[in-house]
Amino acid sequence: MALFEPEALVLRTYNLAEADKIVVCLSRAAGLVRGVAKGCRRLKNRFGAALEPFTLINLTYYQKENQELVSVRQTEILRSNFKLLSEPVTLSGLAHIGDLVVEFSPPYQANDNLFRMVKACIEAISLSPSDLQSVLRYFEVWLLRLEGFLPDLSRCAECHRLFAETEAVFVGTASTLRCQSCGSNDQDQRLSRSVHYQLRATLKLAPGPFAEGLRNASSRTHRDLANLTQRWITRVLERQPRKRPSYSVGALEGNAQNARA
Ligand SMILES: [Zn+2]
Repeated sequence: MALFEPEALVLRTYNLAEADKIVVCLSRAAGLVRGVAKGCRRLKNRFGAALEPFTLINLTYYQKENQELVSVRQTEILRSNFKLLSEPVTLSGLAHIGDLVVEFSPPYQANDNLFRMVKACIEAISLSPSDLQSVLRYFEVWLLRLEGFLPDLSRCAECHRLFAETEAVFVGTASTLRCQSCGSNDQDQRLSRSVHYQLRATLKLAPGPFAEGLRNASSRTHRDLANLTQRWITRVLERQPRKRPSYSVGALEGNAQNARA
């Protein structure tokens, strides 16, 4: 049985048995981690508020070989985001981040860039909750990029020529970007200059400054950007079967009972 102590962000929890919870975290050193926190639903428990969603913690856990569900031993709060959870709109935005990370990340595969990106996005939302939607767009673009699904934003997928600043750019059904001379059919969507500019800005800026830059953008730019990232994400998720945990609920109950014994 190996002991691990990565920095981690709590994404969500599920109740398990009468006093326990399953905790899903994105950790810096081990990627997506699912663990049992024993006794954490009792009034007095060693975890306190550390397992509230979107808390940044030091997570100490044991993992048996070949076992996906780890045993959470200790938690230390590095940064609480508790105040964000009281605002329903913010909470639903954060839940969107949690859901997509769970959908896209294979368990126990460290991805330092993904961890730092998600952490930076939550910090940006915490500093400026009114920029929520802009930070969510930033998160979506970067999630697609880090998981290898973002089309090349800088050049045409057909002729590989770099796009000029003012050039018309089209997105086809295959999600790739093309120039006008490489042809656009009826199904292709012309990207507005502003949306193309903002997409490229995500790759150059941190989430805070990116969101600041979007404050003066038109509501149409916001809407088009949201529709586009939504389309790209849906395309990836429909192509890939949704990942299911490799254990059944019965196995979870058994695991918790064994842990109690
Ligand atoms: Zn072209």
